[in-house]
Amino acid sequence: MIVDSHQHFVRLAKHRDIERFRESQLAGEAPDSPPELSDADIGQSLQTVLGLMTKRGIDTAFASPRAKAMATHDGAAEQNEIWADLNNSLVLRACMLNRGKFAPVGMLGQHGSAPSDRIARQMERWARAGFIAFNFDPDGSGGRWSNPPFTARQNYPVFEAAQALDVPLVLHGSESINPNFPHTAVQYLVADIAGFVQLMMAKQLFREFPRLRFVIPHGGGALPCQIGRWRAIAKFNDWSAPDEILGSGNVFVDTCVYNGLNMKMLFDAVPLDNILFGSECDGAFPGIVNPETGDHADNTRSYVDESGLSSADRRQIYFGNAARVYPRASRWIESQGSKSNSSL
Ligand SMILES: [Zn+2]
Repeated sequence: MIVDSHQHFVRLAKHRDIERFRESQLAGEAPDSPPELSDADIGQSLQTVLGLMTKRGIDTAFASPRAKAMATHDGAAEQNEIWADLNNSLVLRACMLNRGKFAPVGMLGQHGSAPSDRIARQMERWARAGFIAFNFDPDGSGGRWSNPPFTARQNYPVFEAAQALDVPLVLHGSESINPNFPHTAVQYLVADIAGFVQLMMAKQLFREFPRLRFVIPHGGGALPCQIGRWRAIAKFNDWSAPDEILGSGNVFVDTCVYNGLNMKMLFDAVPLDNILFGSECDGAFPGIVNPETGDHADNTRSYVDESGLSSADRRQIYFGNAARVYPRASRWIESQGSKSNSSL
C-alpha cells in the first residue's frame, strides 16, 4: 500500500466562488454565507489528481486545503477562522465523496491577533469531525518573519491540543507578500528551514510536550544538504542537535524533493523512521516534466523506487511511518468503509 502524506486540493480552492468569497472578505464586504459548491464541482476538481494517483499506484492521500490560501498574514482573526472552516468543510466533503482515497488534513484560522486557545478549539472541532492532522504556518506574517519563533509560549495552547488529540502539526509555509520570496519556490522552503531550526533552538519544547509531533515537508527543507551545518551550529550554540530531535520521535519529514540525487541524499541524511512518502501531486507545478525521467517532476514515487532502498525500507516510507505518525488516519479510513482493500 502506498500513502501520499502530502497533497493539497489546490484546484478545489481555486474554484471561482471560493476565491470570490475570500476576496469579498478581504474587501470588508462581510459576506454572510459561504458559497455552496455542488458535488459535481468538487468531483471535477479532483479528476486530475485521482487519475495521477491511479497511474502512480498511490492508494490513499492525506489532503489539505491549498497552502497559499491559508494567507495567515491577511484578513482578521474572525475572518480567518471562517475562511479556515470553509476550506476544511470542502476538504471534508471531497474526502467523503471519494471514500478510502483521501484522509482530511485541516488548516487553522491563524492570524497575528488570533488567541491561540481559540485556534486550539477550532482544531479540536475539526479533529472531532475526523481530521487527522493540521497544517501550521510557522511564519504567520506573509514572509516578513516579524512574529516570535513559532515555538514560543503564545502557541502552547495549540501544542497542548495537538498532543492531546494525537494529531501531528505539519509546519507549512503560506502566501508571501515579498516578491523576493515566491511562495512555492522560497517561502515554503524558508518555513521548513526556519521551522526545523526553531525546533533545535527550543530545547524545552519536547520536554514540556513529549508526545507532540511535527512534520517538516519538502524533505525537511535543506536537511539533505545542510544537516552537517546544523550539527555543528547546535554544538556551538548549545541547541538540540538535529539527530536528537529526529531520534526523539517528535519530528518527521516527507519525500517532496524532485530529483533522484536529492532523494538519495535525503535517505542518507535522515533516519528512515522519520521519512514519510509525499508528492504534493498536482499542486506545486502541475504537469511539469523532469527531463531526467521524462515523467512529471512530482512523481516522487519514481525517485524513491530508483533510490536503491530495499523493499522493506520502501514499505516503511510508503506506509508504515504514515500509519505511526498519523494514528487517526486508520480510524478515518475505517470510518469511511473504504471500498478498496486498503487500510492503514
Ligand atoms: Zn504542501
